[in-house]
Formats: sequence, structure tokens, C-alpha cells
Amino acid sequence: MDDDSTRRTGVAIRVAVVGAGGRMGAEVCRAVDAADGLELVAAVDPSADGTSPAGVEDGPTIVAAIGDLDGDRVDVAVEFTTPDTVRANVEALLAAGIHVVVGATGMDGDDLAAVEGAATDADRHVFVAPNFAIGAVLMMQFAAEAARHLPDIEIIERHHDGKVDAPSGTALRTADMVADARTTDVEPVGGDDRHPGARGFTHRGVPVHAVRLPGLVAHQEVVAGGVGETLTIRHDSIDRSSFMPGVVLAVRAVADLDAPLVVGLEHLL
Ligand code: NAP
Repeated sequence: MDDDSTRRTGVAIRVAVVGAGGRMGAEVCRAVDAADGLELVAAVDPSADGTSPAGVEDGPTIVAAIGDLDGDRVDVAVEFTTPDTVRANVEALLAAGIHVVVGATGMDGDDLAAVEGAATDADRHVFVAPNFAIGAVLMMQFAAEAARHLPDIEIIERHHDGKVDAPSGTALRTADMVADARTTDVEPVGGDDRHPGARGFTHRGVPVHAVRLPGLVAHQEVVAGGVGETLTIRHDSIDRSSFMPGVVLAVRAVADLDAPLVVGLEHLL
């Protein structure tokens, strides 16, 4: 893909959705199709059966693999697959000359460093957001503010029972922001690890509890305890549409980022 194609003035940004058959990918296909200035030109999912993404009229036929994409015809790809596939997919998309917006969770520090290197080599950009909901970004910022004054903090995250990773990327990102904001060291009260499946974790000194139940979408509480008081900061995504304004914002912004890798929706608000 030539450089001009990523900043073609007055022309729609051509978007591919990877993981288009999944819960989030299908929603992203519809959001891109409905957004001004964006054109859904390609969709990738292993379930490819000759159909288009559900709810997209005259949409592209879903293809089975990124190798089936024509990189010259795609400006930005949105990646919503799985923790096991996301890094390789992002690297393949960059190698094809495509900017990438990443929604799939599960990439650790090593993965992000590798992706940043691949983006630099390809002269393309990667934008990663563990959570595209505006309210969730505010919840994380409020948690960081609370941590400066009430450093004893635990996180309870709740998700639908189809979520494969735990703890959630949002919870890990929140724990990072809390750990960075604390001005005093905190030694969390010791836990009991005799009960496999209880899904308790500690990330950078912040205990995280993960609930997986049918009926949930994506929810998180950050609970801070002080002397004779507690503070609870809570965010609920009650529908996957909550993530779409953030995804569309990122698709519009990714080509113009001033670094090869940017993590966190707060940088675009
Ligand atoms: P999902 O319903 O399981 O969808 C994942 C889709 O990706 C499936 O259709 C899967 O196909 C497909 N896939 C697997 N490997 C692939 C590959 N190599 N290339 C292309 N497609 C592939 O999961 P979901 O609920 O949509 O969630 C997807 C990811 O987004 C998860 O990591 C989740 O944590 C994350 N998420 C992020 C946010 C955010 O705001 N950043 C919000 C919600 C969810 P098969 O089923 O055939 O394997």
C-alpha cells in the first residue's frame, strides 16, 4: 500500500474487520458500515462460508484468513479475535502495509514490544485499547486518581461466560494505572489459593477478582478502602454497542498517530 492511500483526502477510509464472525467483530462490521467516512471493504473469520457480515447490506464476502486480503485495498484493519491469535494477526496485517486498531485482549508487554517493532519496520501504526467504552476509560482514570489518596484498592471484574481470558485486559490496565498512581507501597492482604477456578489474581500488587457468568456483558468495580470508609467506582457495558464510538474514533485516528504504537483510548479523547 502506498503512503498516499492512508491519507486520501475526501475519500472513505477502507476498513477490514478481522474476527468478523465473533460477538465484537460482527458489531464492528455494522458500526463501520454505518459510520460516515468509513467503508467496510473486507472481513476475515475462520467461519467464512461465502456470506457477508450479518446486518451489512451489500457487504464484502468474509474470507478465511488474512493472507486472503489485498493489502493495497485496505487502509485500516480492526482486530477482534482471541488472545492466542491477536499478535500474529497484527504482525501479518502490518507486513501487508495496513494500520491496525486492536480490540482483542491478551497481549502482554513482550507482545506489545514486538508489535511496536513490526509497526516501525512497516512504517504503519498500531492502536490498542483494552476497552473502547468511554465510560470505562473514565472509570480507569478515576481509579488512578483514587489511588493517590486511597492506595488500598481491589478490582472486581465481571464478564459473560464466553470470555476466554481472565483477568480482563481492562482489569490489568486498571491495575497498572493504580500501581503507577500510588504514592505509597501497598502490601495486599494475603489470599487463599486452595480453590482452583476461583479466578483470583494479583497484578502489580493490586488484587483482581474475575467473575464469569451468563447474562453479563462487561462490568468492573474498583473498590478503595480507607479509614472508616470505602469508595466504589463502577462501570457497566450493558451492550456491545458501548464500544463502537471508541472503535470508530480509533479507525479515523490511527493513520495520524505520532508514534508506531499507542495504547489506551484516553490518548484519543
Ligand atoms: P468471539 O465471539 O470468540 O470472537 C472471536 C472471533 O475471532 C471468532 O469468530 C473466531 O472464530 C475469530 N478468530 C479466531 N482466530 C482467528 C484468526 N486467526 N483470524 C481471524 N479470526 C479469528 O470473542 P468476542 O467476545 O468477540 O471478543 C473478541 C476479543 O475482543 C476478546 O479478546 C475480548 O476480550 C475482546 N474485547 C475487547 C473489548 C475492547 O473494548 N477492547 C471489548 C469486548 C471484547 P472461531 O470462533 O471460528 O475461532
